[in-house]
Amino acid sequence: MPAPKPSTFTGRYSVFAIAREAMRLHTGWKRAWASPEPRKKYQIVIVGAGGHGLATAYYLGRNFGITDIAVIEKGWLGGGNTGRNTTIIRSNYLQDPSAAIYNKALQLYENLSQDLNYNIMFSPRGLLMLAQTEHEVRGYKRTAYANQLQGVATEWISPKRIKDMLPIINIEGPRYPVLGGLYQERGGTARHDAVAWGYARACSAMGMHIIQNCEVTGIETANGQVAAVNTARGRIECDKLALVVAGHSSVLAEMAGFRLPIESLALQALVSEPIKPCCDLVIMANTVHGYLSQSDKGEMVIGGGTDGFNNYTQRGSWHHVEETVRALVETFPMLSRLKMLRQWGGIVDMTGDRSPILSATPVGNIFVNCGWGTGGFKAIPGSGWAMAELIAKGQPGPLAAEFGLNRFAEGRFIDESVAAGVAH
Ligand SMILES: Cc1cc2nc3c(=O)[nH]c(=O)nc-3n(C[C@H](O)[C@H](O)[C@H](O)COP(=O)(O)OP(=O)(O)OC[C@H]3O[C@@H](n4cnc5c(N)ncnc54)[C@H](O)[C@@H]3O)c2cc1C
Repeated sequence: MPAPKPSTFTGRYSVFAIAREAMRLHTGWKRAWASPEPRKKYQIVIVGAGGHGLATAYYLGRNFGITDIAVIEKGWLGGGNTGRNTTIIRSNYLQDPSAAIYNKALQLYENLSQDLNYNIMFSPRGLLMLAQTEHEVRGYKRTAYANQLQGVATEWISPKRIKDMLPIINIEGPRYPVLGGLYQERGGTARHDAVAWGYARACSAMGMHIIQNCEVTGIETANGQVAAVNTARGRIECDKLALVVAGHSSVLAEMAGFRLPIESLALQALVSEPIKPCCDLVIMANTVHGYLSQSDKGEMVIGGGTDGFNNYTQRGSWHHVEETVRALVETFPMLSRLKMLRQWGGIVDMTGDRSPILSATPVGNIFVNCGWGTGGFKAIPGSGWAMAELIAKGQPGPLAAEFGLNRFAEGRFIDESVAAGVAH
């Protein structure tokens, strides 16, 4: 007999739900989100069911009561960079607009499991950025002072304290000794898939449509305004359109007839075999360029660099594995004894100042959210919050105001590349 088709779950997950399902051998769980056929028209279409697209839809519903929304995804939801990152969450950015939006995101992350009624496994285990050159010492001390003024709790800590917190570290590395670190106690990680799934479930429960396997292939405009999108599953009209497609932003912008100051590059990561707990911090070593944390399963999750050329290949490459591991082994010698299990890549959307774009565009009622580059996972709730306000009101609120497209024409860069070296 074929299994009954599960319907969409609209109840709350709770200890009582688990107990009830245990009593009836887990036969009552329903699908977490619906997979409806697309309608002919929606008030708002969001292209891209990554974290940023889904969070935008969620806060449009939660904060503005707008639920006539379709989130359209060419693959599966969370299958882009949202499901490919190394899950680092922090808000210790140098520039004021960045600190504001990333700190908003961190605050929302702290209660997101409760808000979405979905365990996103937020783990504020502490984040440490190692200073391994005099230049980094100066830069991170400056960031610590800036963070104090911004109300973001970070501190500069000594090599001795780092060694006490992290016994596996070699602070006397031959080329790059550890000279101190910028520490954010509230930083950490969350389960990236769960962030996408949690938002998707909440959006579906509000009656929004999440349409997967539906590539947007064209954008129609009339009188300088958006009219419709053409998709693999037909034409869909909309009053407002949001392009939230990370590495594919330039492709979608071209469909709408404008250009974006974005370059698309593959960024890579890898994981080791699982080992016993040995590292309960998130570490970023930006001079040698590698970052690592230990997953709940025990794997060392290791982030590498971007390819040196623009491309759309969502896969890893040997030279990155070699370079990243070689760099980290100097500071973490125990890594040399681990086998690496998997490597992968995602297409990141880089702006010249390494800051995002949340903006209206030259086409009426088309908005873009992109440019999060190598560091947008941590921003998802704050970005969705700010983008929802921009779309609902047609004007940016305080969080998005500085991240408009016009900053590139006006020379008002929010330069995080100089500030952080990397932006993960
Ligand atoms: C290896 C790696 C490590 C990273 N590490 C970190 C980290 O530790 N911390 C951090 O904060 N950030 C990190 N990032 C960056 C972070 O993952 C991204 O900034 C963030 O996930 C972007 O989310 P998004 O929703 O904008 O994009 P995505 O999750 O990529 O979603 C965009 C979606 O748009 C869809 N799409 C594209 N074109 C179309 C189309 N024509 N029609 C329909 N759908 C379309 C794609 O299929 C995709 O699902 C990392 C990224 C990578 C690749």
